Amino acid sequence: MNTYQVTLIGEGIYLIFEPAEDVCMYLVVGEKKAALIDGGMGTGNLPGLVEELLKETSPGGSPSAVLPAEGGLPQAVFPLLSHGHGDHYLGMLTYAMIYLDEADITLIRSDYETEKKEAKAEGESLPPLPGLLPLSELTDEDGRIDLGGRHLRIIPIPGHTPGSVGFLLEEERILFSGDGLTYNVWMQLPESSSLEDYLETLYALRPVAGDFDRIYTGHSQNPFGADHLEKVIDLIEKVIQEPFGTPVEEPFPAIEATGDGCVVTYRR
Ligand SMILES: [Zn+2]
Repeated sequence: MNTYQVTLIGEGIYLIFEPAEDVCMYLVVGEKKAALIDGGMGTGNLPGLVEELLKETSPGGSPSAVLPAEGGLPQAVFPLLSHGHGDHYLGMLTYAMIYLDEADITLIRSDYETEKKEAKAEGESLPPLPGLLPLSELTDEDGRIDLGGRHLRIIPIPGHTPGSVGFLLEEERILFSGDGLTYNVWMQLPESSSLEDYLETLYALRPVAGDFDRIYTGHSQNPFGADHLEKVIDLIEKVIQEPFGTPVEEPFPAIEATGDGCVVTYRR
């Protein structure tokens, strides 16, 4: 019935769950700007919901508190993408622009063409793809997006896709990891890296692991602890050493290997 389910997971931090597609988006409200991390499938009016939540959050009951003070972008919200897959960006198509890692720009363009064809086959049409801007346009010299009193640090997590990133909300010690580090890491896609390269990504995350306590992913309403990183590392190391798991056929033939509280799906 309800297109979206909203849960407050911290002061001015909303988890927006889209049950139709089992995806999670996050709205983080700072003193000057808000960040919308991922947009889901777009089965409802996400920008409208975001607008409502901002009204709720701002002290004066108006979203003006998050409008840029010094003639910046004409929007109160930065639409940010963890990566270029349809189940994460389709709900953001009515924004003028979307920010993502440059390494996923080719992917999002081809993914959008596929989505557009599928929509057409069902007699529907999609809004055009918004302007695509690199996340680096928003970051300071330390790789952080300043929302006013709150900072999101961009954490590269390539593997699931080449431009997968996480957003580390430093003050609250939360990592929003998209599909880059999740319960079932999908590494079987044509755009996914080798497991060996993904393992390097995870090793590179180790120095950052002391900076977060909770990991909110793209497909689970419950957070993982910081120890989830080591669990996934352990699983991938084992699979590389001696491949194991159960064959799965959908959406691509692959192998699914289960570890301690995590799964990796990889190419046969
Ligand atoms: Zn994905």
